Amino acid sequence: MIEVVLLGTGGMMPLPGRWLASAMLRSQGRAVLIDCGEGTQVGIRQYGFGFRAIETILLTHYHADHTAGLPGVLLAIAFAERTEPVTIVGPVGLGQVLQAVVTLAGPLPFPLEARELADGAAFPAGPFLGSALAGDHRVPCLAYRLDLPRAPRFLPERAQALGVPVEQWRALQEGEPVVVGEQVVWPPAVLGPPRPGLSVGYLTDSRPTAQMPAFFADVDLLICEATFADPAQAERAHQRKHLLFREAAALARASRARRLWLTHFSPALTDPARWKHEAEQEYPTVVVGTDGLQTVLRFAEEAEADAPGRESLPG
Ligand SMILES: [Zn+2]
Ligand SMILES: [Zn+2]
Repeated sequence: MIEVVLLGTGGMMPLPGRWLASAMLRSQGRAVLIDCGEGTQVGIRQYGFGFRAIETILLTHYHADHTAGLPGVLLAIAFAERTEPVTIVGPVGLGQVLQAVVTLAGPLPFPLEARELADGAAFPAGPFLGSALAGDHRVPCLAYRLDLPRAPRFLPERAQALGVPVEQWRALQEGEPVVVGEQVVWPPAVLGPPRPGLSVGYLTDSRPTAQMPAFFADVDLLICEATFADPAQAERAHQRKHLLFREAAALARASRARRLWLTHFSPALTDPARWKHEAEQEYPTVVVGTDGLQTVLRFAEEAEADAPGRESLPG
């Protein structure tokens, strides 16, 4: 399963009750933070996600509303006594940004690793397989997709039939062959068919591109910027390289995203939910994001076994 929270939903500048767009994903006790504007650490504390587990920080681009919170978040991770490395991932120019951040934050008790990505890169991000796609903004910008793979089911009756002792089952489950008597037993012999994993897509500060629907294809959740709501602002959206509500929803539909959360609202948009109908025309089940919006994405069988994860706001 993946826990997801929107730490903030604002673009450009924070407002009372609306921090800057940032999201956090947690799975198997490992966390990935996406974007880190001013105030991101407030949301991490407020929604109880914690700092110590942050392994990877993905930056979509280096505009201040996505990066100015970095020194504070790194100091909070240090204060939480993390000593394992933290990897910061971003488009071209990352080295310079990190130099500035380290100057501001001072020496950190954990190694800070930089991973500068080009369009089309695949990379590890905590428990996820990450991939990056070039966006279309005023500066180099990346869209991200995080996939949590699912191991095939282990079939004990097959292992028994092949005479594999129980002590060796774990190795097979973890994908390693084992030797039983004179024979080698390979994992596929005792594992069921492939099972679908879970995936989250994240796009802020970009126009749509032709590559995006394939990149985000069938994601369980798409978190997508929707800076402007009013169709009368279409020209401004083009000039500033942002999306309208309706364009974000059209992208989600073209991608066959299972769920859609809108975020990164213009500060001029005092009540984004009032414009929900603009997105509903393209994507009827759209959720207009608010700070603290959370959900748990579950693998198919888990979802059947207990109540389905639904959006919720903490008290
Ligand atoms: Zn922005
Ligand atoms: Zn920007």
